[in-house]
Amino acid sequence: MFKYFLIFLSFLSFFLVVGQTPQKTVVAKRGDGIYSLFKKNNINIKYIKEFIALNQKNLRPNNGLFIGQTYILPITEKDTTVIDSITPKIENTSPKLKIKNTLFGNHYSDIIVEDKKLEGAIYYLISGHGGPDPGAIETYNGKLISEDEYAYDVTLRLARKLLSNGAKVYIIIKDLNDGIRDKRILEVDYDEVSYPNNKIPRNQRLRLRQRTQAVNNLYVKHRGAYQRLIVTHVDSRSKGKNIDVFFYHHINSKNGKRLADNIHNSFKQKYAKHQPNRIYSGSVSSRSGLYLIKNTLPAMVYIELGNIKNKKDQKRILNYQNREALANWIHNGLLSDFEGR
Ligand SMILES: [Zn+2]
Repeated sequence: MFKYFLIFLSFLSFFLVVGQTPQKTVVAKRGDGIYSLFKKNNINIKYIKEFIALNQKNLRPNNGLFIGQTYILPITEKDTTVIDSITPKIENTSPKLKIKNTLFGNHYSDIIVEDKKLEGAIYYLISGHGGPDPGAIETYNGKLISEDEYAYDVTLRLARKLLSNGAKVYIIIKDLNDGIRDKRILEVDYDEVSYPNNKIPRNQRLRLRQRTQAVNNLYVKHRGAYQRLIVTHVDSRSKGKNIDVFFYHHINSKNGKRLADNIHNSFKQKYAKHQPNRIYSGSVSSRSGLYLIKNTLPAMVYIELGNIKNKKDQKRILNYQNREALANWIHNGLLSDFEGR
């Protein structure tokens, strides 16, 4: 008898699902947004358009929800499959947002937003030089290598990590066809542009002013938000000294110093973990005379990741896994800085 009952139930659910279109509804509670509603009801974020279409007249102008309002949930693929067991396993996978950006290159264009650790944070990333100016140049195995390509590769890797934590990221100097490159020799080119899409001038002062203005205009637009600028170079001047990485900030910027300290601390920790026999030597100091440090509005750090002309540094920066590690360490410092803000 029980067996028949089970079969009956199976048929019942079959007809419920297929025989008519079920419309699940839910009442919005305080603090609910589309995202949290989807999460609670185990609906993939890809159905967001359907949700908006179904509930158009009950949404705020920015697609926010009204407390106490009933909302229709979109029918997902899972809803329309025939249920063939009485107790289907409830999968506890929360929907994750996916971003696509071809700037990161074919292999890295998809970015999954893993969490919201950096939600609300805004980053401006400037890799040194670019366009007609390759920065420091050197030959390696008969091939020309340049500072700007390596700084840019680290910058892209960093940008991806920040995006995966829900941050807003502006890549100020960009190359539309380079992407993240998992190789040693990054060919020199001259087609980088400055945000949003401006040709980079040859004159150094105009070049620096252009990127400074790009950042400052955006900064004003986002006034009030947590905003940080990270500038990366690979041509530290004191190549004679045995210092690995330099972090510079503006002398009067408390937030800039804190940012530099946080990234520096992250480097110290990582070095201790990965290279216990090698003493890490980095330094944080103010260097307010540099054009970008002096003229940009957000709290900022100017990082010299070594010197591409120095054989030891060259060996490190040419290895893409090391570039990934550098991006990781900067990223960790940025996470601490945002957490402790
Ligand atoms: Zn440089």
